[in-house]
Amino acid sequence: MLKGIAASPGIEIGKAYVLEGHQIVINKEKITEGMVENEIKRLEEAIVRSKEQLEKIKEKAEKELGHDKAEIFAAHIMVLEDPVFIDEIKSRIKSDKITAENAVSIVSQHYVEMFNNMNDEYLKERAADVRDVSERMIKNILGVPIETLADIFDESIIIAKDLTPSDTAQMDKEKVLAFATDMGGRTSHTAIMARSLEIPAVVGLVDISRKARTGDIVIVDGNKGIVHVNPDENTLKEYEKIRQDYINYRLELKELKDLPGMTRDGVRRVELSANIGTPKDVEGALNNGAEGVGLYRTEFLYMDRENLPTEEEQFAAYKQVAEAMAPRPIIIRTLDIGGDKKLPYLDMPDEMNPFLGWRAIRMCLDRPDILKTQLRAILRASFYGNVKIMYPMICRAEEIIKANSILEEAKKELKAEGIPFDDNLEVGIMVEIPSAAVIADILAKEVDFFSIGTNDLIQYTLAVDRMNEHISNLYEPLHPAVLRLVKNVIDASHSAGKWTGMCGEMAGDVTATPILLGLGLDEFSMSASSIPQVKKIIRSLTFDEAKQIAEKALKMEKPQEIRKMMEEFIEKIK
Ligand code: PEP
Ligand code: MG
Repeated sequence: MLKGIAASPGIEIGKAYVLEGHQIVINKEKITEGMVENEIKRLEEAIVRSKEQLEKIKEKAEKELGHDKAEIFAAHIMVLEDPVFIDEIKSRIKSDKITAENAVSIVSQHYVEMFNNMNDEYLKERAADVRDVSERMIKNILGVPIETLADIFDESIIIAKDLTPSDTAQMDKEKVLAFATDMGGRTSHTAIMARSLEIPAVVGLVDISRKARTGDIVIVDGNKGIVHVNPDENTLKEYEKIRQDYINYRLELKELKDLPGMTRDGVRRVELSANIGTPKDVEGALNNGAEGVGLYRTEFLYMDRENLPTEEEQFAAYKQVAEAMAPRPIIIRTLDIGGDKKLPYLDMPDEMNPFLGWRAIRMCLDRPDILKTQLRAILRASFYGNVKIMYPMICRAEEIIKANSILEEAKKELKAEGIPFDDNLEVGIMVEIPSAAVIADILAKEVDFFSIGTNDLIQYTLAVDRMNEHISNLYEPLHPAVLRLVKNVIDASHSAGKWTGMCGEMAGDVTATPILLGLGLDEFSMSASSIPQVKKIIRSLTFDEAKQIAEKALKMEKPQEIRKMMEEFIEKIK
């Protein structure tokens, strides 16, 4: 048995698929005239190899998945055989004196953008084909082994050293039963994505990628953070039952879907919302009864590509979410890049401490062009639903004022262009840096609402890296310092006539629910699949009971004691 960190709930039993994972580094240096021929040769060899691979995959897909799915790979082969595409790459190598991989990257990006900007769904899908094929070509040029989640056909449990947030975003729920990784913490973005996709996951297992082999039978218990590799008969039987019980429990919770997040005595009602990363997550949010989107992490729109998304692309995504959720509110967070989310094309500096570095609003205020494009897209989408804006990583009032002045410019431009938007949309900030929580009374003057980002707030308050599996035992949402900061933020907002939500993972942690409810939190936003269980706790308490337990917890001195009290309390309600 291997013990890791429970990252996404659920239990699955299945065959392992161990991913190796290799980094691609594109050489962007200029080449000399004499090297041109060799680069063309590298390109041509990579095309041949890519074709061979695709033929094989197509054959396999034809057998296992049927003709329709196999057609995808036929389309990929066609891209490789397209003389316009290939000739353009070659002439770039010759005229710009760049490496084969760089030329493939530049030319394919041009086509991806062109297809993406077309209004035709069919042509938009071609963008994905070009992207996949060019990635394959680049890997073949560089001699990097190819293993992507897209190549997995059988239902599998993915085992890897680490997975990036975009790996997780690409996971096909039909094929990926669960995953288990060596690295990571509960609030790493990979874990967060797994929860929104409702794929069970255990992370921080240290060496599972060495202990398991492809084809091994694996049990992933995402509730307890346990993985068994090649379990014995008894364990297997036991887990088949545990799995079935858990499925039944989830079904029971589903019955709460259309009920409000109201206390048992009907005195207090809170809003229960979902965190999403892409428009695809809206379905899961609605299925779990979300009353809104409390956090739309827009970073994923900027990832897995080679340049910034255009205003049109962003507008399309935001509008889709606004319309699908309307009349429910959606809070769109402006770009929060940096930390564990990097954009290779942005030329971001290598930093000693990226989580304390040039990220989120700091980067956006230095690059107002990026922020303004995004704000214009959000404003335009606001016409189609109930949209709010939220700035991440705020630590001082000036940042809000500066961001708002860019927002005003964007509004002015849109007005002059005659483009409609909601002029009264609410603007709030994430409170995720301790200084912001401490001066919440000052910041409250500048905003319509707060949303407490506990993932970062806890890591900064306790100086515990949220992604480091070695100190995950110190990452404690119920630490008195965290509870005091949360209380301070809620109280400050209420004194100023504003409201406070929470969009960090603590909002979906049932051991914290009674305390947060008692402290007066107005909105809880979490991975959609956590909504039913939080709702159940809220509906089984009176507001007085919640206030009492919050008061008691805030008087306690040791994190461990608070945790013990809350776990026992929840066990009784469940
Ligand atoms: C947070 O920090 O709590 C948060 C919600 O933002 P992210 O997890 O994207 O950093
Ligand atoms: Mg954060």
